[in-house]
Amino acid sequence: MKKSKVKIGIFPLTGCEGCCVAILDLPGKLLELQSKIEIVNFRLMEEESHLETESYDIVFVEGSPLTVHDIQLLKRVRKHSKYVISIGSCAHIGGIYHMKQYHDTDKIHNYVYRGKKGIENIDVKPLSAYVKVDFALPGCPITGEEFYDFVYQLLIGKAPSITQNPVCYECQIQGNQCLLQHGDVCLGPITQGGCSAICLKSKQGCWGCRGLVEDAEVSNLVKKLREKYSDKEIAKFFEVFGVKEMINKK
Ligand code: SF4
Ligand code: SF4
Ligand code: SF4
Repeated sequence: MKKSKVKIGIFPLTGCEGCCVAILDLPGKLLELQSKIEIVNFRLMEEESHLETESYDIVFVEGSPLTVHDIQLLKRVRKHSKYVISIGSCAHIGGIYHMKQYHDTDKIHNYVYRGKKGIENIDVKPLSAYVKVDFALPGCPITGEEFYDFVYQLLIGKAPSITQNPVCYECQIQGNQCLLQHGDVCLGPITQGGCSAICLKSKQGCWGCRGLVEDAEVSNLVKKLREKYSDKEIAKFFEVFGVKEMINKK
């Protein structure tokens, strides 16, 4: 009997769709899997959108639930999918939008939209605040390699996993000069690796887009940063991608 393909849905909520672009960035990998998977509702690939009430084996959700429509869609796809996987820091930890939560959200909303009526101002929360999330692929954006490795693992019935080393591990393997030791800001010691320390290749410090690594030694990093920065400044560094929220929950 012919085995049916694994049905994968990709649903973007509010976000820049950079994570969806990362999936398309490796077209060869997509072709390798085409006999085993059927990808639907991927609006970067097809014009027709599929119903959230169809059944899926796996649904990947990108972006933050920032509108009532986003939240309803998320709850519907959860109901009709065996696995729900968050992709990207917006979905995983609130992402860059989460910065709003550390300010007067009404004031910010009025500043941006100049008092225009009818625009929702919902608190920025990760997907897991609304539905059960089975796994998170972190990053801003995710890496295409990690996405396909993840799908391979599920297809062969292996429990999916991603690296649990901090960014420093990959940075040091590459022989990069340590920015933190030179007084620059870098959240690499507490951030989950897997991105090949891509920012450090361009001598940009890590801002923690992949979230906290397991057993992150936050106090050691704070101690190092205090040599040059105030506690107020350090708190702001942790706000960029929502890492502060993760630290508060630890
Ligand atoms: S995680 Fe980054 S790349 Fe992905 S949707 Fe959000 S802002 Fe875009
Ligand atoms: S530059 Fe950042 S990521 Fe690289 S070793 Fe230093 S602290 Fe770690
Ligand atoms: S180095 Fe840090 S900020 Fe840059 S992609 Fe990796 S986890 Fe994200």
